[in-house]
Amino acid sequence: MSKKKIVIIEDEPDILEVLSYNLKREGFDVFTAVNGTLGLSLVNKENPDLLLLDLMLPGMDGIEICSNVKSNPANQNTLIIMVTAKGEESDIVLGLGVGADDYITKPFSPKELVARVKAVLRRGTLVESVPRQDQVQVGKLAIDPTKYEVTVAGNEIRLTATEFRLLHYLASNPGRVFSREQLLSRAMGDDVVVVDRNIDVHIRGIRKKMNTEPPMIETIRGVGYRLRDPA
Ligand code: CA
Repeated sequence: MSKKKIVIIEDEPDILEVLSYNLKREGFDVFTAVNGTLGLSLVNKENPDLLLLDLMLPGMDGIEICSNVKSNPANQNTLIIMVTAKGEESDIVLGLGVGADDYITKPFSPKELVARVKAVLRRGTLVESVPRQDQVQVGKLAIDPTKYEVTVAGNEIRLTATEFRLLHYLASNPGRVFSREQLLSRAMGDDVVVVDRNIDVHIRGIRKKMNTEPPMIETIRGVGYRLRDPA
């Protein structure tokens, strides 16, 4: 099996070195750039499996790079993890909106980073579509769309149509963070009349019915929601 390629764009040399060292040690083929312009040409040249992208960069910023990479068909298989600082939640929402696959907030340990990189590589690019008709199993949660059935630890729970679609969508992409806007447009779709477009209300309803501690659906403050990935 060939090594997975990772490009890191980060303007702080110390951080860049730590990231690069730890990912190389895990057996990844690592390429680095200290600004957006160099980074973008590196991405286009190497066509990496994953791009670790600092959001706060001089010149071309992370959002612009992310949008650039994701709109280029040649890079369609490149996954993107944004690296953000605390308090940049609105940037995270923007980044997810232009196609970033995940994010990690500074400060983080090398161990956390490696785990996140592996998780994103494992689950791959999200296929953007109406939720599939496949059965989904995440930890104690099992969903069978053909029977419209949801069980938690073997016990069936009854969800509204909107709650069902939301949970099925989140569970089809475990570990991945979605903004409220993304959940509305992707999980709900344009064809469905959603009576209440307040995602928070539906999530609260699902959590109450699932009744797990901690809740399987995690609130990412200022960003949105994700279903915990127990893997
Ligand atoms: Ca920076």
